Amino acid sequence: MKIAFFSTKSYDRTYMNQVNEAFGHDISYFDTGLRPSTAVLAQDHTAVCIFVNDQADTETLEVLKDQGVELLALRSAGFNHVDIGKADELGIKIARVPAYSPYAVAEHALAMILTLNRKTHLAYSRVRDGNFSLERLTGFDLRGKTVGVIGTGVIGRVFAQIMLGVGCKVVAYDPYPNEELKQQVEYMGLPELFSQSDIISLHCPLTKDTHYIINEEAVNQMKEDVMLINTSRGGLVDTKAVIQGLKHQKIGYFGLDVYEQEENIFFEDLSGAIIQDDMITRLMTFPNVLITSHQAFFTQEAMTGIAKTTLQNIRDFEEGKELANEVSYSDK
Ligand code: NAD
Repeated sequence: MKIAFFSTKSYDRTYMNQVNEAFGHDISYFDTGLRPSTAVLAQDHTAVCIFVNDQADTETLEVLKDQGVELLALRSAGFNHVDIGKADELGIKIARVPAYSPYAVAEHALAMILTLNRKTHLAYSRVRDGNFSLERLTGFDLRGKTVGVIGTGVIGRVFAQIMLGVGCKVVAYDPYPNEELKQQVEYMGLPELFSQSDIISLHCPLTKDTHYIINEEAVNQMKEDVMLINTSRGGLVDTKAVIQGLKHQKIGYFGLDVYEQEENIFFEDLSGAIIQDDMITRLMTFPNVLITSHQAFFTQEAMTGIAKTTLQNIRDFEEGKELANEVSYSDK
């Protein structure tokens, strides 16, 4: 099938090309993101493949429909960037990659926790500068601390198991609790989770219900010196409220792999540019904030898994099979 891939970097092409040897799809790669103005590039392609910061809104989908696109293949688990209702109305099918490597994201959340706690990001620069002092590098034992997990789907469950393995007590909030996890984890309401957790990690999708789930009110309910980790979606966190929490030293640590205005920043080399986004630049000034550029998924295993599932989704569509990973209007 002819597929137009948007927002592709060298690493996307490497993994897709390797896996496509077994599929033989006809792929056109575009560096540019999918926007209303770039959607015309999809002309004569039956499928369009996009990533997390592409825009599949009403206007874009209408242009894609005019180009003859029938399938939108997401290289991601999240689908908050797609107007599912509009796609349904236009008859464009959507498929996603529901689980490629939950370990990749869960382990990245752990990496952020350990870095912020043991301050290895500060120690690394200090030692390279000939500074072997331990001043202000004190951490805390993770063992015995309470970790609050918001969203116990595929990734949240792996993360909960990792933290249990480290010796933490794990509490969780999810409107649909996992029966198996209930044996090891205490489910509770969000206010209780906020007030009991030493570390809070977000693993729920971005929906209208979860937008700004971390807002000023939530920050006020948290413990002093709490650690907040967001590897899920930027829009879950009201960044302004968290900046206030950091300034007032209510939030002791903030690790973010996703940011609510990441579209024009993340995945790009802006080292020679003047960054216009004042919130991200403010966050960059805190020594107790760790920012990574939406890289939690980025392992060899996950890249191979994403490529395999994406190309299989497209093949299933091509062969008229039922789409196992279809995102439908009811998932909205
Ligand atoms: P999943 O669908 O398996 O799990 C999501 C869980 O969130 C479900 O159990 C669901 O019941 C729960 N949930 C729904 N609404 C909720 C709410 N209001 N409060 C709390 N929980 C709620 O998804 P997953 O594979 O575990 O992925 C979770 C999220 O991680 C994705 O939606 C995506 O945004 C993010 N993600 C990030 C990266 C990255 O590289 N940073 C990579 C993959 C996924």
